[in-house]
Amino acid sequence: MAASAAAAAAEGETKRDLSILQSGRPVEGYLNTPELIAAHEKKTGGAPYFRFPPEPNGFLHIGHAKSMNLNFGSARAHGGKCYLRYDDTNPEAEDQVYIDAIVEMVEWMGWRPDWVTYSSDYFAELYAFAVQLIKAGKAYVDHSTPDQLKQQRELREDSPWRNRSVEENLLLFNHMRQGRYAEGEATLRVKADMKSDNPNMRDFIAYRVKYVEHPHIKDTWCIYPSYDFTHCLIDSLEDIDYSLCTLEFETRRESYFWLLAELNLWRPHVWEFSRLNVTGSLLSKRKINVLVRKGIVRGFDDPRLLTLAGMRRRGYTPAAINRFCELVGITRSMNVIQISMLENTLREDLDERCERRLMVIDPIKVVVDNWKGEMAVECPNHPRRPELGNRSVPFTDTFYVDRSDFHTMDDNSKFYGLAPGPRAVGLKYSGNVVCKSFEVDKNGQPTVIHVDIDFERKDKPKTNISWVSATASTPVEVRLYNPLLKDDRAAIDPEFLKFIDENSEVITHGYAEKGVEKFQPFESIQVERFGYFVVDSDTTPDQLVMNRVLSLREDKSKAAVAEPAQRKKK
Ligand code: ATP
Ligand code: MG
Repeated sequence: MAASAAAAAAEGETKRDLSILQSGRPVEGYLNTPELIAAHEKKTGGAPYFRFPPEPNGFLHIGHAKSMNLNFGSARAHGGKCYLRYDDTNPEAEDQVYIDAIVEMVEWMGWRPDWVTYSSDYFAELYAFAVQLIKAGKAYVDHSTPDQLKQQRELREDSPWRNRSVEENLLLFNHMRQGRYAEGEATLRVKADMKSDNPNMRDFIAYRVKYVEHPHIKDTWCIYPSYDFTHCLIDSLEDIDYSLCTLEFETRRESYFWLLAELNLWRPHVWEFSRLNVTGSLLSKRKINVLVRKGIVRGFDDPRLLTLAGMRRRGYTPAAINRFCELVGITRSMNVIQISMLENTLREDLDERCERRLMVIDPIKVVVDNWKGEMAVECPNHPRRPELGNRSVPFTDTFYVDRSDFHTMDDNSKFYGLAPGPRAVGLKYSGNVVCKSFEVDKNGQPTVIHVDIDFERKDKPKTNISWVSATASTPVEVRLYNPLLKDDRAAIDPEFLKFIDENSEVITHGYAEKGVEKFQPFESIQVERFGYFVVDSDTTPDQLVMNRVLSLREDKSKAAVAEPAQRKKK
């Protein structure tokens, strides 16, 4: 159901207009020749080709969802195709764990890649292109140190190795490949334009020596191509029509086209869009990796993170995430989106799809003194969707209510919950109760409330509170979440750890009505009055664990709910 809903959300975007993506600003070498166009169309049959190229060095996050929505979504909307391509050219940071997690999240989001490829699968072809460039006098083996190289590029000065003969370059590049150099002793640089105003054109590095085992191709290679060398060539080899990336790559489009023109290869449209940023969250894979490594969060799928794995665990649905991406849209201006926009999109989705259940988060026991027994009450599963039917819930003479629904004195005219005195309070789907007395522990804390019940509901109560039978219920560990960050400066401050809110996770022990334990991890319910809750993946046959997804309404959680520091109103 989740996957098809995501598909439906993505399908709704036929409005997306490919002509926008064709408006890339031309750069020299941008135009394809008629021969290249003919060859390209022969291969693609005119269907637009896209790619989503994550580097497997971390978990996908909401920013990647936006990129996927654009790439897979455009392909789907226009009868095209889309690759999932692992851009795996930095083996030191990459890992099989990330490779597996990425494809899992792509599929969870409802996308079905037409092909799954790895940049590393093309290394033999890339090597052949490098040799071709050397033969054309357009690449050279360089022994400058990283500092020297940086200086040359800043001062726009040629490397002393720039004018070696083709033969020597071929020989030495082969030596690089054979492992005759230590790391850092030799690089292959393209011979572009050291005088260019665009720093990336100043002979960018094409290959480096690295003795690191690669997660996908193991130790086949000891030289690795750079991003600038790899990305455009593989886009071309995969016959991509639209190469869409985030704005920080804009300065690299010139070298992208330069290389394709030198090798006379197909040139995709290149179009850059702004990165998605969301308030209260970190979307840098590097920073997320730090949080996980230091044990500050429960893992890459911590419900406070906007990794897709974390969002799934928090109760987000692919449909809501894709809908959010649609609403945010694709622009070239910098933007930080309020987390409330994401939450509201989810709320709308959950309101429609979630069944209602009774649960008490911070329980206090209630004993009925004027009636003993057990009865079944009928409760609708969804107030607006009768097709979801009713369920029968046991009501018993001892039950729990939430501590927030009890006051020891009836002295607040705005409080309609239980308090000693003659005022009747409704129990959802059951009778009215009147609080006769309460017991306390040695600290004066209320422990048991005594009530009389009136099943005929002679009075009309101002409110109906939630309850859960004390004898026929399921204990549940409840995890309540607040934003992980106390301040959005965390996104830009290198010392971002000081902005972590240590109390962003609060655990309570509550009770859910019988049957809630049958829900599976990642399935959500609406707990009447207290918000949306999702079954956590830590759940075992002996212990149900639920995370609060969201309160029922934005910014207006009942003060009552055992809830630390509410988010402030904007
Ligand atoms: P990070 O900085 O989080 O590591 P990245 O850009 O290195 O992200 P990649 O794995 O290289 O991540 O990204 C895969 C695709 O997703 C790229 O096309 C990239 O531009 C896009 N992408 C990554 N982050 C965002 C974001 N915040 N908003 C939109 N698109 C993004
Ligand atoms: Mg990257």
